[in-house]
Formats: sequence, structure tokens, C-alpha cells
Amino acid sequence: MRALAASFRPYGWAPSTDEIARLAGLDPVEVLRFDGNVPPDPLPSARPGVIAQRLASVNEYPHGGYGPLVPAIARYAGVEPENVVLGAGADDLIFLVARAFAGPGDEVAIEPTPTYPLLAIAAGVAGAGIGDSAPALTFCCRPNNPSGDLPDLPAARPLAVDEAYFEYARDSAAGLLDDEVVVIRTFSKAFGLAGARIGYALASADVAAELRARQHPAPVSTLSAELALAVLADLPDVAPGLDERERVAAALRALGLEPLPSWTNFLFVPVEGARDLAARLLARGLAVRPFDDGIRLSVRDRADDDVLLDTLARELDRPSPVDAAGGRRARVVRATAETRIRVRLALDGAGRVSVATGAG
Ligand code: PMP
Repeated sequence: MRALAASFRPYGWAPSTDEIARLAGLDPVEVLRFDGNVPPDPLPSARPGVIAQRLASVNEYPHGGYGPLVPAIARYAGVEPENVVLGAGADDLIFLVARAFAGPGDEVAIEPTPTYPLLAIAAGVAGAGIGDSAPALTFCCRPNNPSGDLPDLPAARPLAVDEAYFEYARDSAAGLLDDEVVVIRTFSKAFGLAGARIGYALASADVAAELRARQHPAPVSTLSAELALAVLADLPDVAPGLDERERVAAALRALGLEPLPSWTNFLFVPVEGARDLAARLLARGLAVRPFDDGIRLSVRDRADDDVLLDTLARELDRPSPVDAAGGRRARVVRATAETRIRVRLALDGAGRVSVATGAG
């Protein structure tokens, strides 16, 4: 086996929801994950029924051209179908771009720091080192994870821009495809399809063809392709999520914390003893992403975010910034072939009821 560099560190998974539930003494459905930077629910358009037709022929391979999906992505991104390369999530495309541009003896530059760890992992697996003296490829995560910042676009070329959080910032390098720029995007974030593992790269027609030549023939399942088509036909509105992000940021400031400005669906909150704080939240069934100098938390929705804010206040020994419920809570999630139902009850709260079935 070809050895990886001594400095290489593989991706490290956070504990599973089942493990957290066991640790916290909760039912798994009560665990709230603020560590994945994904929306709290699938989009209504990603209905279970969407894939029923595809299941009827799941014995067949997808056709590698991905029929209507590639033109639909091209329309959404404002490019031509020849500029689109599909992959099993942005991660698949990050690996593809790394191995297409860099190999043993090359350097890959990665901006800014710290950033999404998979960029360095992909460079390492391609056999390249990390450095910026004469890089064969520069990666830029924009907006950046974990800071949430929108860094300046590097002048270096060739450049691959990870735009996983594009929909929240609406600022793209997609106009620079003919200037040796590749853009990598995903259906995992604003489109709510992280479990489907589907993303795409945008590149000049020539670079896109070179990238496709280095892929296996059908990287995306027919089921995932169908879900992506469904969500593209009914684009998500990120505005309420952005308002909720600003509400959470203000509540964190009321707790004496200083979340960084964010162009994404998450907030980076500098805090001392971050790993210890994250461990204490985990013991209460709340998963945030710990770093040495802070925690990163995804914005979910008001009810879930209030649970986190209230628990944070308790852990920091400060007054709660929200009128939180404190009392008994219950949560039930059920999905069948036709429906997906999620019920949240605050048993001791005031009597406010909202029911949205999505059906007539
Ligand atoms: N890029 C960034 C910056 C991310 O934060 C993530 C997911 N956390 C990804 C890529 C991975 O996206 P996907 O699920 O499409 O592989």
C-alpha cells in the first residue's frame, strides 16, 4: 500500500445520535444535533413518494448522463450542462478535483485557515503535500467552515472554490469558470439532502470533461438524482433561516458571548474551555462541534435553538436569554411511504398549537 504522509489525519466522526442518546439517557429522537450544518427537516418537495417510481426500477443502473438533472442544475447555476459534473456530495468532488490537479510531489494550497478538514484530506490522499510555494491547486472554502466568514477570493490559479454554503451567502465564483476556477457545491445544506449524498462541480467545458473522465461511471444513485430534481423544482427559501441565525446570534450576545459574523447556516462562538463545554452539552443530548477556541453550532429552528440557548445559559451560569420552556418536552418523528410527520410538544407551556400537514 502507498503510505500516506506522516502528518495525514483521516476524517474524525462525531459520536452517533444513538451513542449520544445512550450517554444522555434520552430517546434518540430527543437528541438535537447542532454539529452538521444541515437544516432541521427535509424540504417538503423531498417527499417519500418522489422516489417510489425510481424504486420500481432500482435494479437498473442510472444512465451516466443523468438525463434531466444535469440541465436542471445548469439552469439553477446559470451555466451550460457541459459545465456540470455530478458527484456523491461535495466531498466526492473535492476528492476528484484534488486527484485531477495534484499528485505525489505537488503542493496544494488551502485557504483560509482553519477550514474544512476534507480539503487537506483530499490533497493527502492524492499524494500531494500542503503548501503555497508553487501550488498545483489552491482550494478556498467560501463561505468558510468553521468561521462562517466570506473570505476574499484568492488570485491563485487553478483554484477550486468550495461553495457548500453558497445559498446562504449568494456570492459565487461561478462567473470565473473560464479562468481556471472550479466551483464545488452540494445538495446537503440549503437543499436538505445530506443523507442522499449528492453534489456537483461547475467548470469550463474542457475541465469538466477531464473531471468526468476521472470518475467512476455512475457516482450518484437514481434515488438521489430524483430527490435533487424534486428540490430544484421548488427552490428553498433560506430567508427565515437567516433571520433565525441573527436571532440566535443576538441571544448569544445577551449571554455575553461574541459569535463571529456568519454568511452560512451556522455560527462560530469563541469561548474558553470549548471542548469541556461541548462535552457538557453532549451529556444533555445537544451536539455542537467543538474546537480548541470555540464551538460551532448550526442554526436549526426557534424551538430547537431555544433548547440550546437555555441549556448554554445554564452551563455558563447566566440568566437564560429566551423564555424557555424548561418543562417536559416530547418529540415524535414518523415516516411512511406517503407521509413524514414530526410532532414536538412542550407539555408544560402555554397552549399554542400549529399543525401543517402539507396535504389539502
Ligand atoms: N464543504 C464544506 C465546507 C462543508 O462544510 C461540507 C459538509 N460539512 C461539505 C463540503 C460536504 O458536503 P457534502 O455533504 O456534499 O459532501
